[in-house]
Amino acid sequence: MSKTPQINAIKGMNDILPPESARWEWLEDVVRRVMAAHAYRNVRTPIMELTQLYTRGLGEVTDIVEKEMYAFEDRADQHGKADHLALRPEGTAGLVRAVAEHNLLYDGGKRLFYMGPMFRRERPQRGRYRQFHQVGAEALGFGGPEVDAELILLAVALWRELGINNWRLELNSLGQPDERREHRAALIAYFEAHAGQLDEDAKRRLHSNPLRILDTKNPAMQALAEGAPKLIDHLGDKSRAHFAAVQAILAANGVEWRINPRLVRGLDYYNLTVFEFITDSLGAQGTICGGGRYDYLIEQIGGKPAPAVGWALGVERVLELLKEEGVHTLDPVPDAYAVIPDAAALPQVMRCLHQLRSLGVAVQMHAASGQGGEGMGSMKSQFKRADASGARFALIFGADELAEGQVTVKALRDGAGAQTRQSLAEPALWADILKGTP
Ligand code: ATP
Ligand code: MG
Repeated sequence: MSKTPQINAIKGMNDILPPESARWEWLEDVVRRVMAAHAYRNVRTPIMELTQLYTRGLGEVTDIVEKEMYAFEDRADQHGKADHLALRPEGTAGLVRAVAEHNLLYDGGKRLFYMGPMFRRERPQRGRYRQFHQVGAEALGFGGPEVDAELILLAVALWRELGINNWRLELNSLGQPDERREHRAALIAYFEAHAGQLDEDAKRRLHSNPLRILDTKNPAMQALAEGAPKLIDHLGDKSRAHFAAVQAILAANGVEWRINPRLVRGLDYYNLTVFEFITDSLGAQGTICGGGRYDYLIEQIGGKPAPAVGWALGVERVLELLKEEGVHTLDPVPDAYAVIPDAAALPQVMRCLHQLRSLGVAVQMHAASGQGGEGMGSMKSQFKRADASGARFALIFGADELAEGQVTVKALRDGAGAQTRQSLAEPALWADILKGTP
């Protein structure tokens, strides 16, 4: 017998199912709370943008643009013109586009955050997926070091609220474009002098983007990169003062960091402060959050120049880390499970459940498996489902109860077995018992 072949999800793109999805919802709630405490407001931009937003914004010679983007040509319109579109590989470019397009900075700086899926055609492995999720925080229109520090402290607050302790902070300053040009010349001279030791990626980047060679993940290149001229030694007084001010605020807040002169980040848009939060608990994919200042991005994509700083964290990696650290989150369970011996009672029962729900009680109703018409199932099997649901109470809508306009409320957990009769006419009188609120 031939069977229709099953269709599965795309490699590297995951379904997020219960009970795991409850951890996601919990994390999202914590994020919303922490963002609100820092007065960051939510922004939602489209998942697709014109490809040129990313080629211009992220830099042509970044990993993302060179090989990781899901980009394609859209169907042509009636004039034969087709747009080049891309699934967003990150959130900053789209957010900045939206800020510029809607002139959001007209009355001063804005603090914004987003969360949602991003897409990169990378080799799937633990902590690295093709559809993954980011939470990002961005402050636009502020040029001072205090906002760099605010954003770092915002991430620290988030780790604390999530219960994540195993992280370290690495900082660097990439200075300003003129300081980078000077360093770039020194860097090219250094790598040219060691041309024999360069791998393919490095050779390709030598004249297009030599700074990125410092970010190499090739172990054979580490020593060479380690010995390269450091950008931090090429910074002028202003850049140094900015960096020092960020560090002074972190120190006053008891936050520890390490300066990593090789931290350059994967995208081209950064200047001055860059940072990463890294953990040792996740193996090779240890960066849980990264960001920095990007004062020139807005004008690069055609907006009015304005300074900006932000970060993005990887939700999958943070959730994995929570698991490693043994942080437990509660799986949501209904307050009550409705046991319904006879299907004939369903209209009346469902009216009561509807009322209970509007009073804030979470109720799961027993429903017959299969096509229906075979009855509701035995009391034994219904109680088995009630137990499995995790509910603290069973509501028993038996014929005896209904005849008296009542329902039996039976405790399934604390004080299991204890039961009372309650009035169907007045659920408001006993809803609080089910919610566990006195
Ligand atoms: P990596 O060096 O690990 O490739 P990145 O520098 O490309 O990271 P960013 O673009 O700065 O990462 O994205 C911010 C965060 O998003 C990362 O620190 C990481 O936690 C997460 N992230 C990035 N790419 C992926 C991916 N393919 N799958 C899961 N999480 C990711
Ligand atoms: Mg990457």
